[in-house]
Amino acid sequence: MRLGTRKMDEVVYLLVYHVIFIMFVWAYWQTIFTKPMNPLKEFQLSHSDKELLEREDRGESQQEILRRIAKDLPIYTRTNSGAIRFCDRCQLLKPDRCHHCSVCDKCILKMDHHCPWVNNCVGFSNYKFFMLFLAYSLLYCLFITTTDLQYFIKFWTKGLPDTQAKFHILFLFFSASMFSISLASLFIYHCWLVCKNRSTLEAVRAPVFRHGTDKNGFSLGFTKNFLQVFGDEAKYWPVPIFSSLGDGCSFPTCLVNLDPEQPSSPSGSSSASKSAGEGRQFPSKPLRESQSRLLTSTPSWSENEGAGDKDKKGKIMICCFPIVL
Ligand SMILES: [Zn+2]
Ligand SMILES: [Zn+2]
Repeated sequence: MRLGTRKMDEVVYLLVYHVIFIMFVWAYWQTIFTKPMNPLKEFQLSHSDKELLEREDRGESQQEILRRIAKDLPIYTRTNSGAIRFCDRCQLLKPDRCHHCSVCDKCILKMDHHCPWVNNCVGFSNYKFFMLFLAYSLLYCLFITTTDLQYFIKFWTKGLPDTQAKFHILFLFFSASMFSISLASLFIYHCWLVCKNRSTLEAVRAPVFRHGTDKNGFSLGFTKNFLQVFGDEAKYWPVPIFSSLGDGCSFPTCLVNLDPEQPSSPSGSSSASKSAGEGRQFPSKPLRESQSRLLTSTPSWSENEGAGDKDKKGKIMICCFPIVL
């Protein structure tokens, strides 16, 4: 009878181990091999604009040209000095949250960081995969640590047969527990970033808007922040399949800050209903399809927008002006 129960335990252990292992390898694979997304064509300078920009040598006149081009784009962030964010290397206007990666030598949408562990840039296209990679690798290490614990104790109480294999138990326990600690700290930090809707770069340096820096500029509240990364279909949350919302080029920003960390709202208004109306800080710009997909149920890679999306947008986007239609 006891032998039967032990056999059952072993089968369960093996099954759970392999499920976690497969999910871990899948998420790791996706993080490594998903190409980082670059800004859309409309952010690139046209041939004539390039020539115009080259002809001007004064910074102020160049900014004038860039400001004119930026007028038609959903760009709300600025440099520290208030200038339009422009990438010399890629010759494009940087969309909000986009940064130039010096390792990849490209502008990466919603760049988080360049990760040497995956030899890839972590950004809009693979941030969900990176989160799942952290989650499953942590789960994997914790599973090994806990199942190895009883043998680790037996090692010290001389309960193990005296063979070389007992040192494997020791090594396995130490390596799995050490990785668990470092992965847990990184995973908790990134969970916090997801909750706050910040990238690692934005956590180091808050984005600059026209009204000044605002570390919570992209935060929409916990639930919407989570949905922005993981998508609005719960069945895809634990699976390393792309389901993040938006196109990576434009992001809704809240005028009224509901975050208790920042009591003063940039627009000076105090209620959410007010912010959707007259309290606007920026001029409202007409948005194209690709820029107004964020937080709708349409998959973000697809160029088609469902007919029923408009209602949904209206509901979700209270207090987030760029997407309110
Ligand atoms: Zn660039
Ligand atoms: Zn990179």
